[in-house]
Amino acid sequence: MPIFLVLTLLFVFIFGTIIGSFLNVCIYRIPAGQSIVRPASRCPQCGTAIRWYQNFPVLSWVALKGKCASCKAAIPWRYPMVEILTGLLFVGVLWKFGLHPATLVYWLLAAALIVITFIDLDHQIIPDVISLPGIVVGFLCSFLVPWLPWVDSLIGIVVGGGSLLLVALAYEFLTKKEGMGGGDIKLLAMLGAFLGWQAVFPIIFFSSLVGTAIGIPVMITRKADSKLALPFGPFLAVGALFYLFWGQAVIRWYWSISLPAGG
Ligand SMILES: [Zn+2]
Repeated sequence: MPIFLVLTLLFVFIFGTIIGSFLNVCIYRIPAGQSIVRPASRCPQCGTAIRWYQNFPVLSWVALKGKCASCKAAIPWRYPMVEILTGLLFVGVLWKFGLHPATLVYWLLAAALIVITFIDLDHQIIPDVISLPGIVVGFLCSFLVPWLPWVDSLIGIVVGGGSLLLVALAYEFLTKKEGMGGGDIKLLAMLGAFLGWQAVFPIIFFSSLVGTAIGIPVMITRKADSKLALPFGPFLAVGALFYLFWGQAVIRWYWSISLPAGG
């Protein structure tokens, strides 16, 4: 690989970890209803403000051996993991879409999905403050993505929101229980806005596959508490990212095996 390319990818990875460090703040503060800009990061245990030189993504956590510098409270390894994950996704998006405005759009989408995933895992909610503006931002971003006509984005909002709403209503009608949360419906509307209506059913399909593969072992080990459903948001996020990177290739492959040659 040319050295220029290596340096660019490294720079974008570091940029991604810095954004990831901000995403950690969002994951922690949005469900608590706190501001994500003020005050500066502090230790959740002792409240000591984190000094600027202790605020390097990943490296600080390693240097501090995963402990707060003043009270030695453990800093969960999830913090550096979210930073590394963001860095890797940023590099992956750049690798796939190159120096193009769409790369910025998909960085934004990836960042939103990381925040949604970890908040949903922690609290079983998908905050409206992300998904609702996300629907509008996703639609506006379609003007930066040449292969996503704004009409496809608009229909994506309706199909994304509508399809899960129908599933949720049918489930409630049949079981008299509330299954899917309203948060999932708004999230899928947001994904339809960012990726177009064509993405909606592949995303549902991919996320159901992942959900089944992970959900069944989890339910078996948890046993009795079958009422407690797994949050579906993280699976939708994984499904959407899978679609973003490999969706077109999988769909092409599917048609190539299901249509006879020359047919
Ligand atoms: Zn502390």
